[in-house]
Amino acid sequence: MKSFEERLIDSIRNVPDFPKPGIQFKDITTLLKEADLLSEMADRLYDYYKDLGITQVVGIESRGFIIGSILAYKLKAGFVLLRKAGKLPADTYEVEYQLEYGTDKIQVHRDALKPHDVVLLHDDLLATGGSASAAIELIQKFEVQQIHVNFLIELSFLKGRERLPKVDSLHSMLSF
Ligand code: AMP
Repeated sequence: MKSFEERLIDSIRNVPDFPKPGIQFKDITTLLKEADLLSEMADRLYDYYKDLGITQVVGIESRGFIIGSILAYKLKAGFVLLRKAGKLPADTYEVEYQLEYGTDKIQVHRDALKPHDVVLLHDDLLATGGSASAAIELIQKFEVQQIHVNFLIELSFLKGRERLPKVDSLHSMLSF
């Protein structure tokens, strides 16, 4: 009988050379359609975070919205969207971050969080840490109580973890 972790690893599709040569893309769509795995994963993440008093789950566009909103529902927390530049309709804060070639920007509504919030930031995958660092910087603008960070998958060989600003906790379900 395979462990939960083995079943999770088996369910993620590795796509070589996507979106460009040399990148092995971890495709979670094959995980998401496995009803039992999706529900066990959400239950385990809920157990991990249920006693921290999380008031808002913050998801990074776009795959961070999927498990992020399931977690918000289970934790009885709100859900906040971090989006690529130009997508959010009201006043925003933004942070620019470095990509391999050029830069990108992410934004959040200025009224999205309050200083009393305890935040759980979620994304599907930590690679170089560029987008998560920008996301943490954005959340820090609100001077919230605590910032906890969760990824389904961490590509630990890229050492993204070392690039992130200091947070209250950092947890990945799977590490490669
Ligand atoms: P990074 O900013 O380098 O940590 O990249 C993280 C973001 O890019 C996440 O939102 C991921 O969804 C996506 N990403 C980066 N590398 C991969 C990969 N090998 N497989 C799947 N998604 C990736």
